[in-house]
Order: sequence, then structure tokens, then C-alpha cells
Amino acid sequence: MANTIPSLIGGKDVASARTAPVLNPHNGEEIAQLTLADGAIVDAAVKAARAAQAAWAATPAVKRGEIHFKACALIEERAEELSKIVAEEAGKPLKDARGETGGAVQCGRFFAGEGQRLFGRTMPSNTANKYAMTIRQPCGVAALIIAANTPAPNFAWKVFPALICGNAVVLKPAEDTPRSADWMARVLIEAGVPAGVLNVVQGLGGDVGPALTEHPGVDVISFTGSTRVGRMIAEQAGKHLKKVSLELGGKNAFVVCDDADLDKAVKWAAASAFSNAGQRCAAGSRFIVFDAVYDAFVQKFVAAAKAQKLGVSDESDLGPVINERQLSNMLAAIDKAQSAGAKVLTGGKRASGALAGGFYLEPTIVEGAKPGDEISVHELFGPIAALYRVKDYAEAVALANQSEYGLTAAIHTRSIDRAWNFAQAVETGVAVVNAGTFGSEPHMPFGGRRASGNGTREPGTEALDIYTELKDIYLVIDPP
Ligand code: NAD
Repeated sequence: MANTIPSLIGGKDVASARTAPVLNPHNGEEIAQLTLADGAIVDAAVKAARAAQAAWAATPAVKRGEIHFKACALIEERAEELSKIVAEEAGKPLKDARGETGGAVQCGRFFAGEGQRLFGRTMPSNTANKYAMTIRQPCGVAALIIAANTPAPNFAWKVFPALICGNAVVLKPAEDTPRSADWMARVLIEAGVPAGVLNVVQGLGGDVGPALTEHPGVDVISFTGSTRVGRMIAEQAGKHLKKVSLELGGKNAFVVCDDADLDKAVKWAAASAFSNAGQRCAAGSRFIVFDAVYDAFVQKFVAAAKAQKLGVSDESDLGPVINERQLSNMLAAIDKAQSAGAKVLTGGKRASGALAGGFYLEPTIVEGAKPGDEISVHELFGPIAALYRVKDYAEAVALANQSEYGLTAAIHTRSIDRAWNFAQAVETGVAVVNAGTFGSEPHMPFGGRRASGNGTREPGTEALDIYTELKDIYLVIDPP
């Protein structure tokens, strides 16, 4: 069946007897059948990667970079094809998917350039005629597991740095967005990445994930996904002392001070909470507002939420969430919050009418939840904002930091003192002044504290630390 998505191992399609439907989140219709890999297929992929890795590591990094540049040129040439796949399988407006394709190419080019650097350091020695330096060497086989929210950049953030460092890769895409990963992997192979150096195993996280992360042939694991799964991977990796990078969830605070430009704050609040249907690890979900401007801010924010246009046309602001299960979890969390005394100011329901067949949640704003309530504590990964009223800056910072997570945060203020103090005091990996809660630019290190990760940073040159092992070299010279 043309619409069946196989695994890709050693450059060859690998089918599987078990399949599952891939649904278009916009209307719930089947768009493809995903083949579900099992342990034997995972084993074959890791073995193919191991067999191909040494020759790839021996290929000069500059040459590996040239292949990356070629792959980026091909992706750019065929950007519309990839963007359409992403828009359909992830359920988002084509304009958003095009932006993501552009982001993936930018990331690829950044790491292609790293092939000309891949820096170590030279340092002085304490002994005469002795020279000390570090070089970077590949880890070996990298297992890369990614989430569905922005599938093309998620692929790029991990695959390009892992490859430029000379590793072979086994990628496990999210089961909801397998086609974009399949498409991108084939383009990289067409650009010159040797068969076996980049393998894709398709299937369910619970089957493929553990078989991959626990495989003795895997040297480094990089995972983007939920904190729940990240914890399981960390436990496994710890047992075998495997190198692991975890980019996990967030429950990000957005602070509005009494001296904020309220219209600007509302514009960024809506973008932070609702863009990509709130399915961004960096999404703003806790809106902490000074008492003095609370009523004015809330009135404008609710109006902005009501004005959000749902759908996947280029006039739309946000599409559906990724699947029925996630939508049900969100609706249950909103119900629970209401039972605990919170009030839904707008949204809170599945979209009806023409969008009823899709996995749409109306942009939702909730007020009156307590900081310890579930809706304040758990990441929901949907277009849901909770409001908190605080009396002053000190209370705002304390509440912003009252979270298991520590990924991003934003503050809106005209005071440079507050802005700078917040940037220092907020316990997150990213702090933003007078804009939205952001992810990262491709050359910047992104990551979070506490339950948002394990301290690693991707992408940026910091990603090189994940995908390489440093070696110290000492050279002792006898002067002639
Ligand atoms: P998820 O953890 O359920 O799934 C993510 C990936 O892990 C998928 O490919 C899935 O198949 C796989 N997986 C599932 N069970 C597994 C297991 N037992 N072993 C190994 N792999 C397994 O997450 P999700 O709900 O699909 O994605 C949303 C989450 O991702 C949110 O928490 C979000 O914040 C996070 N995220 C983080 C970043 C970041 O950079 N920090 C970026 C995007 C998304």
C-alpha cells in the first residue's frame, strides 16, 4: 500500500506485520498506515548503524558538513512538499508548517558550518615541551527520540548535530508524525548520508522506545518529550551509565507587572498560550498578573482568546491538538479545575460545528485555580492559560518559581531593574523580557532546569557536547 510508512534501515524499507492508522488531527481522517517496528527491527537498525559508523567517523567533518549543506538545499528546494506533509499530519496551518521547515533548514545549515569548526581547545601545560589539547570524537550510535509538536525542527535539532559529530543515528519519530521524518531522512540519504548512517524506526513509543534506549549498541540517547517518559529513560540510561540528553516539559510563567504595556503584553500572552495550539514546551501556561492591572489585562486577554481563529487555513491562528487522547486529557483537567473551584472565563470546550470531527480545543482561560491545583502544576500541552493575581513583584517571582519545571519564563515591565532582576532570579533555562515565552534560535542553547531536563542544552554549539566525547591529548616533544 503506497500510503504505508515503513521503517528505514540501511537505506532499505522495512515493513512490519502490525500497523496502526495515522490520523489527520484536523478532521480525524486516516492519512496513512504506520508500520509498527518490534524489538527485532530495532536491533537490526542499531546493528546497521554500528556497521556504518566507523567509515562515517573517518569522513572529514568538513565533508560531512558539505553533505548537510546539500541536504538543506534539497529541503529548501522541496520545502512546499515537506510543509504540506507537516501541515497535514501535525494539523496546522501551512504558513506555520512553512515557518518550521525554514527553521529546520536554518538549524541544518548551522550544524553544517560546525563541520568546519568542531572545536577542541589547546591549553598550556605545566611542563616544558609538553603540549596539551582536547579533540572531539563521536560517541558512536545515537538513539534520537522526538515529539510530534514541530516535527521538522525536532528532527533537525537532533539529527544534524548527531551526524556532523560523526555518529550514526537511529531515529524514532513520534507515532503521530512519522511521514515528515521519513521524508527528511530520505532527503538526507539522497544528499549523501551513507545508508546505515541514518536509520528510522517507526512505531509506538512503548514498544520501540525501550528496545532502543536499552539496546547495548546505543552509546548516546537524546530525547525530546514528556517528563514522564524522560524519567523512565533516565533510569534506564543510569543503570547502564549511558550518556543521555533530555529536553522535557514546561509549565512556563508569564508575568505582567503594573508598569507593563498592556496591549503588547496581551499580544504576547495570546501567542505564548495559543500558538501551535499550546503544543510548545515553551508555551506560557501560568499568567501571573499584578493586582493593579489584573482586571484590565484579563478583559483584554479574554477578548484576544475569543478572537483566535481555529482551523488550518492560512487565516487561522491555531489548529487542533495532536490526537483524541491528548484532547480528552485536557478536557478532563479543565473539568477537574472547575470542580476544585476555578472558573473558565472563555473556551474550555471541544470545538463544534465544522471542526467537530477534529481534535480542537477552544482557546481556554481559567481563573481562580490555586497554585497547588493540578491545572497549575501539570503541563497540559494545549491552548490553556491559567491566571493568578499577585500583589507585587516579590510575590510574582516567588510564584513563577513555584513549579516542578524550569524551562522558560517571560516578564512584561518598563522597568529595567525589574527586567534584569527577573532574568537573574527566575529559575529557568530561558528568560524573556517584553515578548513571549520562546523556544530557541538554532544557534542558541535551549534547555531547562529541574523536571524540564537533565541540564543538557540543544541546539547551539552546546549540542556538540552531547554528541561527542572529549579526549585530552598530550604531546611531549624532544627539541632537536
Ligand atoms: P511523549 O513523551 O509521550 O512522546 C515523545 C516521544 O517519546 C514519542 O516519539 C514517543 O513515541 C516516545 N516514547 C513514548 N514512550 C516511550 C518510552 N517508554 N520509551 C522511549 N520513548 C517513548 O511526549 P508527547 O506528549 O508526545 O510530547 C509532548 C512533550 O514533549 C511535552 O511534555 C513537551 O513539553 C515536550 N517537548 C519538549 C521540548 C523541549 O525541547 N524541551 C520540545 C518539544 C516537546
